[in-house]
Amino acid sequence: MLCEVCEERKAVARCGICGRWVCEKHLEGNMCAICKELMCDVCGVRLSVSRCPLCGRLICRECSVELQPGIRVCKDCFSRLNETVSKYPSLAYLTRLLTEKT
Ligand SMILES: [Zn+2]
Ligand SMILES: [Zn+2]
Ligand SMILES: [Zn+2]
Ligand SMILES: [Zn+2]
Repeated sequence: MLCEVCEERKAVARCGICGRWVCEKHLEGNMCAICKELMCDVCGVRLSVSRCPLCGRLICRECSVELQPGIRVCKDCFSRLNETVSKYPSLAYLTRLLTEKT
């Protein structure tokens, strides 16, 4: 069985998340290098579904708030949204999305 990431080295373990077989080099703890890359930067345990447009971190469903379909911000940024928007006026559309919703 070859590593499904590099297809060169012998697979030694199976990724606990996607189930790919990976070699030692592409194994990161219990997950493969690909899942590691896609991991939520906030909790580090769930796969990300999006990237926070404010801080640029990868975020999973649990660690983010959906402002509108397809637009999610992380909970940290969400709690500081007003502060962030006052610093970056170009992000004012995000607060508009919020106020429209409520
Ligand atoms: Zn490999
Ligand atoms: Zn994986
Ligand atoms: Zn998360
Ligand atoms: Zn954020």
